[in-house]
Amino acid sequence: MTDVKSDIEIARAANKQPIREVAAKLGIAEEHLVPYGHDKAKITAEFIRSLEGRPDGKLILVTAVNPTPAGEGKTTTTVGLGDGLNRIGKRAAVCIREASLGPCFGVKGGAAGGGYAQVIPMEDMNLHFTGDFHAITSAHNLLAALLDNHIYWGNEQKIDTRRVVWRRVLDMNDRSLRQIVTSLGGVPNGYPRESGFDITVASEVMAILCLARDLKDLEERLGRIVIATRVDKTPVFARDIKADGAMAVLLKDAMQPNLVQTLENNPAFVHGGPFANIAHGCNSVVATTTALKLADYVVTEAGFGADLGAEKFFDIKCRKAGLTPDACVIVATVRSMKMNGGVAKEDLGREDVAAVTRGCANLGRHIENIGQFGVPVLVAINHFGTDTDAEIDAVKAYAAAMGAEAVLCRHWAQGSAGIEELAHKVAALADSGTAKFAPLYPDAMPLAEKIETIVKRIYRGAAVTMDKSVVDQLAQFAAQGYADLPVCMAKTQYSFSTDPSLRGAPDGHVVHVREVRLSAGAGFVVAICGEIMTMPGLPRSPSAERIHLNMQGYIEGLF
Ligand code: ADP
Ligand code: MG
Repeated sequence: MTDVKSDIEIARAANKQPIREVAAKLGIAEEHLVPYGHDKAKITAEFIRSLEGRPDGKLILVTAVNPTPAGEGKTTTTVGLGDGLNRIGKRAAVCIREASLGPCFGVKGGAAGGGYAQVIPMEDMNLHFTGDFHAITSAHNLLAALLDNHIYWGNEQKIDTRRVVWRRVLDMNDRSLRQIVTSLGGVPNGYPRESGFDITVASEVMAILCLARDLKDLEERLGRIVIATRVDKTPVFARDIKADGAMAVLLKDAMQPNLVQTLENNPAFVHGGPFANIAHGCNSVVATTTALKLADYVVTEAGFGADLGAEKFFDIKCRKAGLTPDACVIVATVRSMKMNGGVAKEDLGREDVAAVTRGCANLGRHIENIGQFGVPVLVAINHFGTDTDAEIDAVKAYAAAMGAEAVLCRHWAQGSAGIEELAHKVAALADSGTAKFAPLYPDAMPLAEKIETIVKRIYRGAAVTMDKSVVDQLAQFAAQGYADLPVCMAKTQYSFSTDPSLRGAPDGHVVHVREVRLSAGAGFVVAICGEIMTMPGLPRSPSAERIHLNMQGYIEGLF
């Protein structure tokens, strides 16, 4: 396999077009672009406003089975499908998330897709890109600085300094900052208190930027962030310390969607990147709604498996932004089905049809679940070199028995030529008008019942348990006027249950809600089931050790 090129080698060899030519394919004139170099641009707010009233294209969600260490390739398939649709003559665009520096230098790999289905320039996209994450980091930390400054200068709002919930953020995996004490060093430095850092993608500012409709909505949402509790137990909002205006100013450019291109020079929107556990895990509403005005087909991705990613895409993003998806593609691989069927990672190279069929229970469950939202489904089998015909047929047969067609796709190895069949079928399905999208639960359902509905209908758990403190907290959120918000589930992505080792399609499990948090600005209540890491650490041998500049000044080792 030594002749296989790395992602960065393929990306660097690409024949890039000037970004204005890519924009022209969507009918965006050059004056509506704010170029960041020759191959990236933001789209102006004025132009986006001018699109109001235009009809929307078809929205296609790419989601996946529960992730395994074998890797599924959602982004790769999203990008490949976008190119495939363009190849068969459709006007299509993709919408994906921006990358965080934490996983980039840690362990996960890039966020631009892979093989011959990538977004370029992949180096920029995986590093500083157009500076959006830096702006989000700054806006978040400005609020933190203003909060401590407010306390320092007399604490007019009577903030209980033991109950400050707003932490600081950094776009880096750095476990040493998880728990810290601030303001050490005496009177001139303020009042010492415990705090800590989260990674930028976990910031509520990130979730807000990704759900806000426009700059005005952004500023209002920033004002609604709860930062602390007063001595009298009432919430303190960012607007109470007059932080919202300056934060919005820092985010003015970051709010505009970024346009780049795929390896095949088709338009790709890359914008925002909230965590898929304590936030909703998909690219910005602004990018998706803009793309829908400009393209006939928009292919977008949701993080993690469909139990978390697709559910939040439907119940949070689509509900709040009024989006109505027309079709859904579930990515599955023979390897992940094998792992779901009990095969260890080391043994994935050996044919095992029975294990594939056993593991398909996981796929089958996701097919059923997407059906509950009224969205028609296709399965994309993302082909790996080790897959055998018998194994592929087993996945096809299982999907067919579940009422969904599975299509073999070779976009990673062949680009758009390898995904034509899926592109034709997706376009036909999206055009068929069979989608009858509806979120899983109504706004008016009580918060605890919303959690129970997701657990029972999506995770197939038997029951939800929560401590009295969590029940009380939910009641308090309701009393404060937040009963209508959707819930954002934070649990392991590896299983339908809260036990990451329970692969396949477990049922009858009990889901324990350990904690609930209000993200009032983003507009959801987070239900934390199990341990959720908001500041990851680096592994013993981080990717950063293998990344360097070569003699020509090019980046090496970035996937
Ligand atoms: P996800 O979006 O599901 O996290 P990605 O699309 O980012 O997954 O892919 C993860 C990694 O797997 C990438 O490095 C990509 O190059 C690799 N990959 C994806 N599809 C294939 C495939 N068919 N064969 C080999 N490697 C693949
Ligand atoms: Mg991805």
